[in-house]
Amino acid sequence: MSKDYYKILGISRNASEEDVKKAYRKLAHQFHPDKAGGNESRFKEINEAYQILSHKEKRSQYDRFGQVFDGGATQGSPWSGFGGEGMHWNVNFGEDFPDFSDIFEGIFEQFGGRRRPTYTRGSDVEVVVQIILEEAFRGLKHKLNLQTFIICKTCGGLGYEKSHGLKGCAMCQGRGEIREQRRTFFGNFSQVRACPQCRGHGQVPNKPCNNCGSKGKVSGMREVIINIAPGVEDGQIIKIVGMGEAGEGDSSGDLYAVIKIKTHPIFERKKSDLFATKDIRITEALLGKKIEIQGIDKEIIQISIPSGFNLREKLKITGYGMPKLGIFGNTSRGDFYIAFNVKVPKSISSKAKKILEDLDKEL
Ligand SMILES: [Zn+2]
Ligand SMILES: [Zn+2]
Repeated sequence: MSKDYYKILGISRNASEEDVKKAYRKLAHQFHPDKAGGNESRFKEINEAYQILSHKEKRSQYDRFGQVFDGGATQGSPWSGFGGEGMHWNVNFGEDFPDFSDIFEGIFEQFGGRRRPTYTRGSDVEVVVQIILEEAFRGLKHKLNLQTFIICKTCGGLGYEKSHGLKGCAMCQGRGEIREQRRTFFGNFSQVRACPQCRGHGQVPNKPCNNCGSKGKVSGMREVIINIAPGVEDGQIIKIVGMGEAGEGDSSGDLYAVIKIKTHPIFERKKSDLFATKDIRITEALLGKKIEIQGIDKEIIQISIPSGFNLREKLKITGYGMPKLGIFGNTSRGDFYIAFNVKVPKSISSKAKKILEDLDKEL
């Protein structure tokens, strides 16, 4: 493989044009050879990466083949557009600036034998899934319809019609690789590369797929069921392998679902504990009466305030919080904490007043 231009610019494979520009400006500034801390080879590399990734066609070529070619291939199709004659690689800075990594890679490959066919993996996809606290409590299977690239049904992702078969690649005579002489400052190098016509397969199809334009994938809807476990936390990321964008062959990207839990009108959550505020009358507090409160699972919990309880503190109800996974894989529940809001009557009768006067004397 050639250089990872995305890595060089520190961006993801689905970075926007704007992201490419931004990353380039920042890095070019940082590594400019005229500056303190500058680095000429990094600077060249950054420029090289930018030349490719900022150019729409070159970028799509690079995404598909890991290389950029001159003359031809503008459709991003693996089976079209390569002229053969006069083709050369334009990722280099010409004969004066040989791309050493490519040369050495080429030398190593001569010892390592035949190149493997290359495939481009589909992009990873990130989605945000918003749920409510009750759903986080019970867990759920969340169904999602994702607009992305899916495998072309006509060709089953091959990019060509299988029934018409394959023929030997004319460019590499079926070897899957091409050998080329490179003249450099240091002398001549014989270099082996994956054949761009067949991309190392050694064969090309007789009939490309018209439905997907040989890409093997088309834009479409993908239905995904996301299994959200009880006790899921806000911001938790669930990875669903192979459910991202379709790539070539069997190489789809992954789907990352970011779970967002909506703020609840009653319950506040901290890890596996829940918090709520309950209005009570002053007499309920003083008489230790039974108070009912509803938990997250709609369960009715009966509590009574213990005598001598400091009403400024929260009352802990053990085991009525959110689910949590124990170290042995067992699930338990966190705790539920109640804060009390003591209601004092706005006006009281003379009879009640008399009773309270008596109570006051007693306390
Ligand atoms: Zn197709
Ligand atoms: Zn070939």
